[in-house]
Amino acid sequence: MKKAIYPGSFDPITNGHIDIIRRARKMFEEVTVAVAKNPDKKPFFSYEEREKMISQIFEDDPKIKVIKYSGLLVDLAKENNIYTFIRGLRAVTDFDYEFQLAMTNKTLNDKIDTVFLMTEGKYSYLSSNVVRQLAKFKGDVSSFVPPLVEFEMKRKVT
Ligand code: ADP
Repeated sequence: MKKAIYPGSFDPITNGHIDIIRRARKMFEEVTVAVAKNPDKKPFFSYEEREKMISQIFEDDPKIKVIKYSGLLVDLAKENNIYTFIRGLRAVTDFDYEFQLAMTNKTLNDKIDTVFLMTEGKYSYLSSNVVRQLAKFKGDVSSFVPPLVEFEMKRKVT
C-alpha cells in the first residue's frame, strides 16, 4: 500500500494545505499529516491544538492520519516506515527552500523521495503567516481557512 507523509507547521492549517491533502489522498492510499512542534517559532496554536483541529477536519476519512512530531524528517520517515514526503509549491520563492530540504533528506537517507504538488492558483498567495497576521488584527479569515479554524482563531484573539 502506497503511503505518504505531509509534514508542516500548519499554524494554522489553511485551505491551501487542505487542497494539497485532498489531492494527495487521490494519489496515495494513506496520507499522514505530520504536525511539527517547531521549537524555533512561538506558534499561534500549540501543536496539540493544531493536531486536534486537523484531526477534526479529516475525521470522516480514516485514510488521513494526523500525528505530531519534533525532530528530523528523516527520523519521522524511519519511525513510520514511510519514505515518501509530500510538500506544496506556491511560487518560485518556495522552490529554493523546498529543494534544499528535499536534497538534504535524500542525502541523509536515499530511500526518501519528496513529491511536490503545485498549489491551485487561487491558493498561490495563501500562507499561514498572512492568516495569522489577519487574525491578530481581527481581519476576516473566512476565505482562507475552514470554519473551525476561523472560530478557534477568533477565540484566541478575543
Ligand atoms: P513549513 O513550516 O514546514 O513550511 P507550512 O505549514 O508552512 O510548513 O507548509 C507546509 C507545506 O505546505 C509546505 O510545503 C508549503 O510550501 C505548503 N503550503 C503552504 N501553503 C500552501 C498553499 N497555499 N498552497 C500549497 N501549498 C502550500
